[in-house]
Amino acid sequence: MSVLVLPRALDAPVDQLQDIGPKYSKLLAKLGIKTIRDLLLTLPFGWETYVPSQISSLVPGTQASVIATVVSIKPVVTPRRRMRLVEATVADDSGAEMRVVWFHSPYILKHLREGDRVAFAGVVDKSQFRGRPGMVNPQHERLGEAGETAPQRVGGMTPKYHLVEGLTSRKIAGWVELVLPLAGHLEDLLPPEVRERHRLLDVADAVRLGHKPASLEDFAAARKRMTFADLFELQAAFAMMRASIAAEPATPIPFRQDVGDAFKSGLGFELTGAQRLATRDAFRDMQQSVPMNRLLNGDVGSGKTAVAAACAAMTHAAGMQTVVMAPTEILARQHLHKFRTYLEGAFSDLKVELLVSSQSTAERRRVRTSAASGHCALVVGTHALIEDEVEFFNLGLAVVDEQHRFGTRQRELLRAKGRGRPHFLAMTATPIPRTLALAMYGEMTLSVIDEMPLGRVPVETEVIDPEHRDLAYDLVRKEVAAGHQAFVICPLIEESETVVARSATAEFERLRKDVFPEPMRMGLIHGRLKDKEVVMQRFAGGEIDVLVATAVVEVGVDVPNATVMMIEGADRFGLAQLHQFRGRVGRGSATSRCVLLADDPTDKSLARLELVARTSSGFKLAEEDMRLRGTGELLGSRQHGLTDAAMDALLQPQLLDDVRQEAERIVQADPSLNGQPALRAAVVRRLELTSIS
Ligand code: ADP
Ligand code: MG
Repeated sequence: MSVLVLPRALDAPVDQLQDIGPKYSKLLAKLGIKTIRDLLLTLPFGWETYVPSQISSLVPGTQASVIATVVSIKPVVTPRRRMRLVEATVADDSGAEMRVVWFHSPYILKHLREGDRVAFAGVVDKSQFRGRPGMVNPQHERLGEAGETAPQRVGGMTPKYHLVEGLTSRKIAGWVELVLPLAGHLEDLLPPEVRERHRLLDVADAVRLGHKPASLEDFAAARKRMTFADLFELQAAFAMMRASIAAEPATPIPFRQDVGDAFKSGLGFELTGAQRLATRDAFRDMQQSVPMNRLLNGDVGSGKTAVAAACAAMTHAAGMQTVVMAPTEILARQHLHKFRTYLEGAFSDLKVELLVSSQSTAERRRVRTSAASGHCALVVGTHALIEDEVEFFNLGLAVVDEQHRFGTRQRELLRAKGRGRPHFLAMTATPIPRTLALAMYGEMTLSVIDEMPLGRVPVETEVIDPEHRDLAYDLVRKEVAAGHQAFVICPLIEESETVVARSATAEFERLRKDVFPEPMRMGLIHGRLKDKEVVMQRFAGGEIDVLVATAVVEVGVDVPNATVMMIEGADRFGLAQLHQFRGRVGRGSATSRCVLLADDPTDKSLARLELVARTSSGFKLAEEDMRLRGTGELLGSRQHGLTDAAMDALLQPQLLDDVRQEAERIVQADPSLNGQPALRAAVVRRLELTSIS
């Protein structure tokens, strides 16, 4: 390998290491490891300790390592789910046999052969297979020729790195070993006084001990420091964003009791306590010259729109305009309807307009003129709002619904429509625990709507054995016969959109042919479909009885006539996601049902589904989801785009508060972080990353 001595070698791409090369550097990039620095800073997420054992004395459910010879090894396809796996029989010196199975790892066949001596390390299966113990996806190390019997890494402590197919923890550990001498050159982004106050290792020690600890205590100390630093970097970025937002003043919007009263009397219902609190928070923010920057987090159907409408009314009373952006046209149209009902009765001079790309050029021109002249008080729309060069006479408030569907840049473009900064209100129907909201959206203040309007009937949820699928189909037929509509959600497949689309299409064809023939009116929606909106609109308009859908249907469309949500492969979705699906029904006055079918029901997955069936609060489920995924299924959390540090923070609210305080302190003392070059560089990198998302 090339000799790496200079500090700037830290910025060199990993393929500069001869052992890595283009193939592995691509795989590492998938894990976010692009430079030598990344390689050093990416610690294992855990360690495994193994007791070396004879096969005959393996204890089911415990971790162990075994040295054995491969007797046979071959690819196998499971009969039911048609999963491809590799199966081997191995025997130790006493002749006792063990079964080893690898899922999703066809490459194993390339480097393990009959007769190889191999060290295996993993958890011994709970149940035996034909009287033999087994291991699934164990770590393994092929031992060399004659004489070499002691494994290098398997046995003792082995690191567990996040992986993608084609990488092993052992490979990564080997590469880390090569660059570890550079650890001393890493810049520490934690100021010394912060490290002292919180008793944290410096970065070089944390990297050395994190990759090669002598004990689990070493590893815990290293990890604690890295977690703190990760969170610190992110919170410092948030603190800088807040400071830069505050530096550009907004026009204060005074509170007027008469406007609040008129709004309430025009609503037609009483605001819930949570809606009142959120409204009060927002009014208080808007009275300041520091722009409001608030996230409204409320369960599906909790009535976030009414809160936004109250803010729009106050803004209008101050002589300013409001813009509301939604991710899809159908949502924008539903908003238009709600805002008009909430506002136009009580405020005769408050005009609400719609701007979406399917409108005629003439209509869009009319709306643009109305916005630019200040004639209309509120424009509701889609991306068209930022694409269409819409200008406002005097924009005071920008609202974004389902804000996670938009990138930072799109939100910024919307805000840029004001003269000065408009106040900003974001809404999301994905209930997230407070700690997670702070970890992800720390630049905003948070209002939580954790209360449902009175009289809402919870969706009756049950878990059905796949063998009794016909019961669910009967339910769909019965509800459709009664004039209602149903969703059928296809299982989540972690493959390309194309594969997902194909399998949803196949399921749709099967249902149409065998299960719900004419006159049942069937529809299909998936991510690859060009006219998703048209399909959704036809469903909302009652032209489709049963809508077969992939996860794209998640976002908040209102179809009050839909009363059945049938979810295939429910065990593969996260709890929060299942709750989102469930929120698609139960929006009308009729009782709605949600039926969960598990593909491959294990006790654990059934317990999770039962939890969804028992719990109607999205916030409770979200917390539970985080807890379950945070501990075990780290790869699942990766898909949510969370770092390990953020996951850790969810479980330790105190840590997050400490970090926020330190970050706030340092940004206040040194707003452009000139005295903290390493931190500044990290924050800038991070802000650049978010602005292109
Ligand atoms: P979401 O928070 O999912 O955006 P919406 O704002 O769309 O929820 O409200 C869902 C439905 O509940 C709407 O039909 C709305 O008019 C109604 N609603 C909102 N607040 C209340 C309330 N306090 N009492 C009764 N109905 C309400
Ligand atoms: Mg909504």
